[in-house]
Amino acid sequence: ITVSALRETAVGERRVAITPEVAKKFRSKGLRVLLEHDAGTAAGFPDGSYADVAFATADQVLAETDLLACVLPPDDDVFGRLREGGTVIGQLRPHGAGARMEVLAQRKLTAFSLELLPRTTRAQAMDVLSSQAAVAGYRAMLIAAENAPKFFPMLTTAAGTIRPSRVLVIGAGVAGLQAIATARRLGAQIEGYDVRPETREQVESLGAKFLDVGVSAAGSGGYARELTVEERAAQQQALAEHLKVLDVVVTTAAVPGRAAPKILTAAMVQGMKPGALVVDLAAESGGNCELTRPGERVEHAGVVILGPLNLAAGAPLHASEMYARNIYNFAELLVRDGALQPDFNDELVAKSCVARNGELLAGV
Ligand code: NAD
Repeated sequence: ITVSALRETAVGERRVAITPEVAKKFRSKGLRVLLEHDAGTAAGFPDGSYADVAFATADQVLAETDLLACVLPPDDDVFGRLREGGTVIGQLRPHGAGARMEVLAQRKLTAFSLELLPRTTRAQAMDVLSSQAAVAGYRAMLIAAENAPKFFPMLTTAAGTIRPSRVLVIGAGVAGLQAIATARRLGAQIEGYDVRPETREQVESLGAKFLDVGVSAAGSGGYARELTVEERAAQQQALAEHLKVLDVVVTTAAVPGRAAPKILTAAMVQGMKPGALVVDLAAESGGNCELTRPGERVEHAGVVILGPLNLAAGAPLHASEMYARNIYNFAELLVRDGALQPDFNDELVAKSCVARNGELLAGV
């Protein structure tokens, strides 16, 4: 079996789906690894850092590979250049991507989109949403610290004492908890807030304070559910009051399968201190703040709102290391007796499969 990765082509993307460490693991399983020239260079893995790996042009890779791993979906024509019957693994962003998905079916490719993995204990080692969200949460807080007009830590100097910044993280999932941990390392006075009650303990275990606004909305599968109109109003009222004292707010709230919940209204932002900063990690899925514009910087009543995109690509080396391990752990489910033989009775295989035998699956 030949397993491959191309140089990622999405704007600003620097990660790679196969790292030297993971290439070695594939080799030890008897697979051949064939990469596009410079596939890992932007992530910090030049061709020379891969041992016992072949390099070729993208066309050659696509003509020879059996199993293509990608971080983000490649350009639309790429799947069309893969050998018929080949297999693809990655974050394929299947919903709303009609044309790209059609090609998968036409070429009779078998495709797995790892965002669709059920979030069970066994899936954790393959959970790309978690591994990349951790990177995104870390990066979001660094961006906040970099853009804030204040120090995060308290400083006692001959020029006087500087009070620590007051930071709130809204949404204490994987990204939010990592953002909280990062703010804490930087010395900010940090609070976390979520609608799932079990997050209180997780926030507190990081040494942060849990902000209780009295709205609880646990959904199924460890996720939050959408708030009712009344709950949303109660949340906004309690938050609006609290926002007035904050220097930085990082928002990470998400509800599976829906646009990001709108938590911060323009009026709430208006009530914040001039010089305050909002970093909206949900910008990609519409934003948690009404004023967020994806990929842009917005200023409103002296408050700056940032909507950074693809944050995980901003720490490409470690993001790639974690991502590639996720890919390897999933690929192990597909290879048996030296051949690609996915077991479709395995729910991890079945639920992540978006195309097979010329058909599109999983509600794509
Ligand atoms: P996510 O990205 O879907 O959402 C981020 C956070 O936003 C969640 O904590 C959610 O509760 C919160 N949120 C949603 N609506 C909100 C609102 N209106 N106000 C405030 N907060 C709101 O979540 P995630 O980080 O991917 O995962 C959430 C949880 O799922 C994890 O903390 C964990 O418990 C569980 N999980 C389990 C596995 C596994 O077992 N394989 C893997 C990953 C996550």
